[in-house]
Amino acid sequence: MKSVVIIGGGLGGLFCGAMLAKEGFFVQVVEKNVTVGGGLQTFTRFGERFDTGMHTAVGMSHGGTVRRICDYLGITERMRLKDVDPLCSDRIFFADQQQWYEIGNGRKGFVDSLAAYFPEERENLTRYVDAVYEMTSHVDVLNLRPSDGGVSLFASSQDFLLPADAFIAKFTDNPTLQSLLAYLSPLYGGRKGCTPAYVHAILTMLYIEGASRFVGGSDRFAELLAGVIREHGGNILTGDGAAWVEVNDRHVDYVLTESNRKLQADYYISAIHPMALFQLMPEKAFPPAFVKRVTSIPNSYSAFCLFLKLKPGSFRYLNFSEYYLRGQGDIWCFDQPDRWPVGLMLMTPPEENQGDFASKAIITVPMLFSEVERWKDTRVGRRGDDYLQWKDGKATQVLELVEQMHPGFRSCIERMDTASPLTIRDHYGSWEGTLYGFSKDCNNIALSQLPVVTKIRNLFLSGQCCNLHGFCGVPLTAINTCEAILGVNHLVNKIGG
Ligand SMILES: Cc1cc2nc3c(=O)[nH]c(=O)nc-3n(C[C@H](O)[C@H](O)[C@H](O)COP(=O)(O)OP(=O)(O)OC[C@H]3O[C@@H](n4cnc5c(N)ncnc54)[C@H](O)[C@@H]3O)c2cc1C
Repeated sequence: MKSVVIIGGGLGGLFCGAMLAKEGFFVQVVEKNVTVGGGLQTFTRFGERFDTGMHTAVGMSHGGTVRRICDYLGITERMRLKDVDPLCSDRIFFADQQQWYEIGNGRKGFVDSLAAYFPEERENLTRYVDAVYEMTSHVDVLNLRPSDGGVSLFASSQDFLLPADAFIAKFTDNPTLQSLLAYLSPLYGGRKGCTPAYVHAILTMLYIEGASRFVGGSDRFAELLAGVIREHGGNILTGDGAAWVEVNDRHVDYVLTESNRKLQADYYISAIHPMALFQLMPEKAFPPAFVKRVTSIPNSYSAFCLFLKLKPGSFRYLNFSEYYLRGQGDIWCFDQPDRWPVGLMLMTPPEENQGDFASKAIITVPMLFSEVERWKDTRVGRRGDDYLQWKDGKATQVLELVEQMHPGFRSCIERMDTASPLTIRDHYGSWEGTLYGFSKDCNNIALSQLPVVTKIRNLFLSGQCCNLHGFCGVPLTAINTCEAILGVNHLVNKIGG
C-alpha cells in the first residue's frame, strides 16, 4: 500500500486525500485548525452558523463536473444543496443608474434575461455565450476528458489569453452590458487588462449552468470528504499543523507536526499556500529561481465580510445573490483602495426547511490586504481597539450601500460580526488573506501556472494557487495532482468514462 501525507485539510487537501484513499493509498492529512475544511469551515455566532469562505457551489448541476467527481467518491446523495432560483440566479444593482438587473440560468435563460434589458443586443449576447462555451470546451480536465498530458491552455482558442475585458468588448460596445457580462469579476479577483479570458469564461459558464448553496453549512461537505478518507483507513490530524518539512537532496524525508509527530510517506502533497510552504522548509529545498518566481506572483485581493443575524420575519430569504456596484464602469476596479467600497455581494444562506424569511445574511466586500497592513503582526482577538474601531467604520460604510439596495435594511439587523483580510489570513493560513490565491495575468501567463509537480521528487502541490480556485477549480487541480502520482488520465478515465 502506497502512502501519502497531505499538508492542509482544506478543499484541495481533502479532495486529494479522498481520491487517493479511494485509489488504495494510506492517506494522512495534517490540518492546523481544530476542524477540517479550510474555506469550507463554518463558525457559530449569536446562535447562527455562518459559512466562512464558500457560499456558492458550481459544477453540481446534473452531469456537472464536480457532481461527477462526487459521484465517483460516492458522496453526492449525502450532500445538502439548494439550487438558486433558475429564473433569477443573481441580481445586480448599479447605483449610478438606480437600476436592478436580473440574470437567468441556462444558455437560453441567460441570453433572454439580458436581452430583456437590451433587445438590440440579443444576437451579440448569443454570440458571446457561444464563445464562452466554445472556449471552455477546450479545457480537458473541466470536461473530465483524457488529455495528452500537455498544457492545453496555449494550444487552444486564440482568445484564451485575451484580457477578459477585451474578450467581452469583442461582442458588445454597450458599457452597461459589458459590465453586466463581467459581473462575476469579484468572484475570480478580476483585474482589467490582466485576468485571462479563459478564467472569465470558465466561471461564467459554470454559473450559467447553475449554482447551488450549502444547506445548514458548508462544513458538512468537508466532513463528507473527510469521511471518505477515514472509511478507507486514512487519518486526519486536526489542530496539529505541519511545522517542518525535512528535505534532503530534493527529496522529502518527513513532515514534523506542531506536536512533534513525525510523519513519513512515499509521497507528500502540499495543499497550502506555496509561500506558507516555503516557511516550513530549508531555504535551499527548492531551486532559488523557483522560489524567486513564486514569490513574485501577486495574490488576488482579500475581502471584508459582514455576518449578520437578522431579526425574525424582517428580511425575506433571497434565493439568489445580490451584487452592488457603484457605477457601471467599476466592475474591474475592486483593487482601488481609494474608492472602497466599490461594490459588494450579499447573500442569505439557506436553513434546513428554509421559510420565507432569512435568519442571517453574509456580505462580502473585496478589499486589499494593504488596508490592514498596520495590524499585520497581530493575532485574532488581540489586534487592539483602533482595529475594532476601524472595522466598525468599514461596516458602517458597507451598510450605507446596502441601504440603497434595501431601504430600512439596518433595522433588520439583530447582531453583527465582521471579518477583515487578517481574519481570513489567520484562519486559513492564506497569504495576505487572499480569496482566490495567486492572481492570474494573461500578460505573463507563465507566472499564473504553478505546476503540481515540483523539483522535489516526492512532493506535489495542490490547492487554489496552482490553477483555478473555488468549488470547481480546486477539485480539478486535485485531479491533476493525484494523476501526477497515479499516472496521466488515471482518474479522468474512471470519473468521466
Ligand atoms: C471569504 C471567501 C469567500 C469565498 N466564497 C467562495 C464561493 O462562494 N465559492 C467558491 O467557489 N469559492 C469561494 N471562495 C474561494 C474558496 O474558498 C477557495 O478557492 C478554496 O477554499 C481554496 O481551497 P484550498 O484547499 O486551496 O485552500 P483552503 O480551503 O484555504 O485550505 C487550506 C488549508 O490548509 C490549512 N493549513 C494552512 N497552513 C497549514 C499548516 N502549516 N499545516 C497544516 N494545515 C495548514 C488551513 O487551515 C486550511 O484548512 C471564497 C474564499 C473566501 C476567503
